Amino acid sequence: MTYDFAVVGAGVFGSWCAHFLRQTGARVLLAEQYAPGHSRSSSGGESRIIRMGYGTDEIYTRMSLRSLDLWRRLFARAGEDLFVPTGVLWLARSGDGYAARTEETLRRVGVAIEHLEPVELRTRYPQINFDGIDWALWEPGSGVLLARRAVAAAVKQCVTAGVEFRTLEIAPFGGAGKFRGGLRTAAGEKISAGAFVFCCGPWLPELFPELLAERMFITRQEVFFFGTPAGNSGYQPQGFPTWLEMSAGMYGMPDIEGRGAKVALDLHGAPFDPDTGERTPSPQAYSAARNYLARRFPQLGDAPLVEARVCQYENTSNGDFLIDRHPDYNVWLVGGGSGHGFKHGPAVGEYVADLLHGHRAPEPRFSLASKASRQSRAVY
Ligand SMILES: Cc1cc2nc3c(=O)[nH]c(=O)nc-3n(C[C@H](O)[C@H](O)[C@H](O)COP(=O)(O)OP(=O)(O)OC[C@H]3O[C@@H](n4cnc5c(N)ncnc54)[C@H](O)[C@@H]3O)c2cc1C
Repeated sequence: MTYDFAVVGAGVFGSWCAHFLRQTGARVLLAEQYAPGHSRSSSGGESRIIRMGYGTDEIYTRMSLRSLDLWRRLFARAGEDLFVPTGVLWLARSGDGYAARTEETLRRVGVAIEHLEPVELRTRYPQINFDGIDWALWEPGSGVLLARRAVAAAVKQCVTAGVEFRTLEIAPFGGAGKFRGGLRTAAGEKISAGAFVFCCGPWLPELFPELLAERMFITRQEVFFFGTPAGNSGYQPQGFPTWLEMSAGMYGMPDIEGRGAKVALDLHGAPFDPDTGERTPSPQAYSAARNYLARRFPQLGDAPLVEARVCQYENTSNGDFLIDRHPDYNVWLVGGGSGHGFKHGPAVGEYVADLLHGHRAPEPRFSLASKASRQSRAVY
């Protein structure tokens, strides 16, 4: 069968691209080598933050607002609410330019926020030790997406709408599957389509080594869940926020679905292979999370580790997404979520469908040409 569009990769970007490409009645294939939201994919964690704050990068603020609306509509249709309204608390120091610029942008765009001083913070959150924190920015409307399940819901909506979902491994673009108006699977089957959309997250550099091996940086990232005290609801979403302390390179969230309080390191780890990388947490990352926990949340100082995950970021040089056409073929590259992409899945899917239908001009920040071979992170 020949498709109008073949989308490769059923993570958050691929599932939403397939959804929007199907809206016009096009024949769409969604091909995934494992299962949607599987444990090796970047979308495969339990939970991902959705926040509106992005410094001066209003483009991402607006995408996030649009995405939250689209996520909620999906969850309403699916009959399962996978958004947890925890709010998001940015812990800031005086002179923290990123938080101050975030506040300015969110006020201008009309996002509901509060600027909180330490006295107010201590009253609201006695569980948190605010030493070294001079103020905080509160986004009451933001929260957490139950990521793995949200991807499964997005794929289900594709299938219901008529997208063909198949478990297939597409062969590397420049290797056995050399492009001749079609692709090959690793098993040798030919896939023909008008356009191919590669939403392969951390696999993109190995699929397109000549274009992306030097322009994407796949890094090991570690996430820890600590058990909260028995008989104490103070760490559950209704009384404890999702929080970010950018100057410490840490973020976390409440005890959602009883998994424990999450503490994660946002600083980039070592290079990582998404297929073969061993996912045992490192002692260094564990100590960093444990020390931070004891300092910022003293009551959890001795809390047991109840779960941990090793995942990977698929970074571009500065953190801007990569959404562009291959220079030679009708093949589109969609990725570079760079540790902040999950929330934007719906807006990315909508953008890609508009772009492929010729309904909008490409955003220069997403171009391949703008992706450098040296990392200098600017978007968080
Ligand atoms: C620990 C961690 C915490 C994060 N926290 C947040 C957060 O709080 N908020 C936020 O917004 N974002 C966050 N992110 C970032 C976000 O999760 C990612 O940017 C996003 O999930 C990337 O989605 P993707 O669809 O591009 O990639 P993936 O989810 O990796 O999907 C790519 C898919 O392509 C498939 N594929 C690859 N090659 C082939 C092939 N040859 N044939 C067929 N299928 C193939 C893969 O199997 C995979 O399923 C975090 C990421 C990590 C790792």
